[in-house]
Amino acid sequence: MNNADNSIIKNYIHDVGQDIYCDLIIPKKILVEMIYESETVIAFIHTNPLYQYHFIVTPKIHVEDIMDKIFDGVRDEIFSAIQKIITRFDYQNIGAKIETNVGSFQKSKHLHFHVFGGKKLKIDPNI
Ligand SMILES: [Zn+2]
Repeated sequence: MNNADNSIIKNYIHDVGQDIYCDLIIPKKILVEMIYESETVIAFIHTNPLYQYHFIVTPKIHVEDIMDKIFDGVRDEIFSAIQKIITRFDYQNIGAKIETNVGSFQKSKHLHFHVFGGKKLKIDPNI
């Protein structure tokens, strides 16, 4: 990914109301480094990683957050994807953390899980 793509993502995330997942990432209008894809879920390396390992796991259909009724239909597949992704690093020794936001904590209004592992690289208040 080049810097131009990275600034598009940054602006999108900070412009409330836009859905970068449905608009750009899922239809592959911008390139991200995919690490997993099934019929319903994708996962990719975060473009601005906060940890040594920092992945985003998100459904391909629009789900606002974990409180959205549609989440019930994709929950198992999302957690199955998260389990597979965590095995990409030595989670038992370096640790892992899974995080999602709801309501005003959520900048991009499309359900996504951050999967972190290893050493913290920086602090980002906008996550
Ligand atoms: Zn969406």
